[in-house]
Amino acid sequence: MSLVTVGTVAFDSIETPYGKADRIVGGAATYASIAASYFVKDIRLVSVVGDDFPEAEMKYMTKRGIDLAGLEIKEGEKSFFWAGKYHNNMNSRDTLATELNVLATFNPKLPKHYRDAKFVMLGNLTPEIQMKVVKQMAKKPKLIALDTMNFWMDVAMPSLKKVLKKVDLLTINDEEARQLSGEYSLVKAAKVIHKMGPKVLVIKKGEHGALLFMDGKMFYAPAMPLAEVFDPTGAGDTFAGGFMGYLASTSSLSFENFKRAMIYGSAMASFCVEEFGITRLKSLNKAQINKRVKEFQKLAAFKL
Ligand code: AMP
Repeated sequence: MSLVTVGTVAFDSIETPYGKADRIVGGAATYASIAASYFVKDIRLVSVVGDDFPEAEMKYMTKRGIDLAGLEIKEGEKSFFWAGKYHNNMNSRDTLATELNVLATFNPKLPKHYRDAKFVMLGNLTPEIQMKVVKQMAKKPKLIALDTMNFWMDVAMPSLKKVLKKVDLLTINDEEARQLSGEYSLVKAAKVIHKMGPKVLVIKKGEHGALLFMDGKMFYAPAMPLAEVFDPTGAGDTFAGGFMGYLASTSSLSFENFKRAMIYGSAMASFCVEEFGITRLKSLNKAQINKRVKEFQKLAAFKL
């Protein structure tokens, strides 16, 4: 089934204990769309870049079945830029720079053929833009998911709360869930967040996995313990892309299917962190993904 992905398409400068990468391709929509493209062939991306964005990367995305009709290219302007630095504990990072550039004035206009998509992934970007996309959908999609981060809670909380009323699923990390709900306990936070709109909540906990809250039930997906994590950038977006790609490819919205989507999302994220930027995501194949999903199955299986 069709999946619309919205989010940043960007340049990132990243420093981790394993090294540095300067101005590499990143962005929430980039990670999410590439991850989802291993599951669905009908992905329609919405974003904006400047004329500095490499054509080869756009060609790569098109080759993977990602429709770029909704990717606006602004002549004479610069793409969104983000710089971050990780310390030994890769669960936390310092944001060194966020330059909105083209994003500051972005007014998304969905191409006509985007408007009947069944699944929508509103990746991390200004809540106002996320809302504009929701409003342009012709029919209510089967599922609208939204990802956001502390940056937008700090600078745009009222608009974020408005768009939360329109979405079915929210993915955020544990600290952001606490900030949004004002509750330290994640179980209590989930109850508060459900009342804000999303019936389904996924709380990402970095190397400690992710929690699903839905229909009064909970599910925990571990993260794959890896000997080396080179670069955690984009892991959250990759999780969301794998998760939504799997759901869109299977189309069932049952709790059992959401549980499987959690594992497919976690598997994709576990690949993402193995190399800098989108490098590892680009070199994957279906057999490797299925093998990793089986490893996840073994990781927490037990007999009573
Ligand atoms: P993640 O590690 O999953 O949080 O995603 C990192 C990606 O998000 C990077 O590739 C950045 O380009 C992008 N990013 C960083 N800050 C923001 C922001 N405030 N809004 C949208 N995208 C962002």
